[in-house]
Amino acid sequence: MRPLIGITGRKDTSARLVNSQMVSVGETYIRAVHRAGGTPIILPPMLAEVDWAPLVARLDGILLSGGEDIHPRHYGQTPETWLGGVDETRDDSELGMLRAALGVRKPILAICRGHQVLNVALGGTLYQDLAAQVPGALDHAFLMSRSLEQSIHDVTLETGSMVERLLRGHTFAVNSAHHQSIQAVGAGLRVVAQASDGVIEAVELADHPFCIGVQWHPEAMVRHDSTMMPLFEGLVEAARGVAKECF
Ligand code: MN
Repeated sequence: MRPLIGITGRKDTSARLVNSQMVSVGETYIRAVHRAGGTPIILPPMLAEVDWAPLVARLDGILLSGGEDIHPRHYGQTPETWLGGVDETRDDSELGMLRAALGVRKPILAICRGHQVLNVALGGTLYQDLAAQVPGALDHAFLMSRSLEQSIHDVTLETGSMVERLLRGHTFAVNSAHHQSIQAVGAGLRVVAQASDGVIEAVELADHPFCIGVQWHPEAMVRHDSTMMPLFEGLVEAARGVAKECF
């Protein structure tokens, strides 16, 4: 039986044919989870904490997708002028979901914004804008002129980390589409990958069967190169263990 993997959705205002906001998930996330052997399902970005415990209980694993900036009030800061767009409903919804998911140790793969939400859920903070706040930082930001299939910078993985074991290597060229990054690391998280400028590119939660955050976008990279597939296969494999316990 394929494990059920919830993928966090976002509000989508691009559709103008209907008089309602839509909820969407990038197709690349869905395809990557499916290719890894999971059954993907979209999680709404506007549920209350009370909804999440029973919903999370039915999932075997969770993928947190990319998207907007997180409102800085969630990490004890006030918005600076360089803060990007936020969706506070999505923030509340995802933080509630993560509290439920972490409590029952569901396997989690958190990508880009998801990696940042994971850090904030565990009490960490973010740079609201790398270019403004980190002198000498590489250009990590999303640009319309470059594809997510393009490598932008290298990341170096920590020896002995789960990410290193999964990907079977130490240095990888990755894409980059983020203007924020982890500042103070959340409780229990271990930094397991950094770019050459010191920007934190991956974290893992200690004492958890599978909880990994990556700042890059593996779901876009696997369209043309399988190097990053083990991240999704690892999530699905861990989720398969959860699925087995239920039967
Ligand atoms: Mn980057």
